[in-house]
Amino acid sequence: MRRKFVAGNWKMHGSLKSNADLLREVRSGAAGLDIDIAVCVPYPYLAQVADLLEGSNIAWGAQDVSEHAQGAYTGEVSAAMLVDFGCKYVIVGHSERRTYYGDTDAIVAAKAEAALKAGLIPIVCVGETLEERERNVTAEVVTRQLNAVAERCGVKALADMVIAYEPVWAIGTGRTATPEQAQEVHALIRARVARDDASVAAGLCILYGGSMKPGNARELMAQPDIDGGLIGGASLVAADFVAICAAAR
Ligand code: PEP
Repeated sequence: MRRKFVAGNWKMHGSLKSNADLLREVRSGAAGLDIDIAVCVPYPYLAQVADLLEGSNIAWGAQDVSEHAQGAYTGEVSAAMLVDFGCKYVIVGHSERRTYYGDTDAIVAAKAEAALKAGLIPIVCVGETLEERERNVTAEVVTRQLNAVAERCGVKALADMVIAYEPVWAIGTGRTATPEQAQEVHALIRARVARDDASVAAGLCILYGGSMKPGNARELMAQPDIDGGLIGGASLVAADFVAICAAAR
């Protein structure tokens, strides 16, 4: 039986004051829930969030990482630097990184590898655009994105990663994939991995992300291949994030 995992992606939101208020409520609301929980926050707040979550059942992570170990890469942050802060997770290949910052499949695979090597758990995002869904190439796109990571890191390495299926058309739009649509792609991802390694596939944590809210979380996470959620907007509202975590049990 796979454990449920709910991760928040704050994106570029937050302030010292609002983070403290949000995490105080999330920390008390989520106390005792028997699932894995994390929040992925902007770099400048890593140390603050580490302090605020000390001794809680909530882990924390970053939203991107360099594919390079160190060097002349102004503005970049390495996986080892994140580990230095006690960071556990890092999101790689979020569609916003792929769309606005040129993260190709190859770069995403290199970032996942760099994260793994440093001891982080990469949350690797895959997902099709609306245009791709309408052209009926969802399976092809998601398989291509997944293959890039599996080929670079090896299928066995997927056991140490989390995959997040995030249809781009559902992110921040209020338009959620139906439980059936999401389950279909999650099953496809698991089947793709099972072709190479059935035991890695059986243990693989696959999150759904895209306008998950308290009202749709339970039904989505009740699907056999949906192991939790990657939550954007709703992770900024303490009551909503806690309700989603509670729905995952
Ligand atoms: C995300 O940013 O990963 C996400 C799923 O956002 P939202 O929940 O707001 O759609």
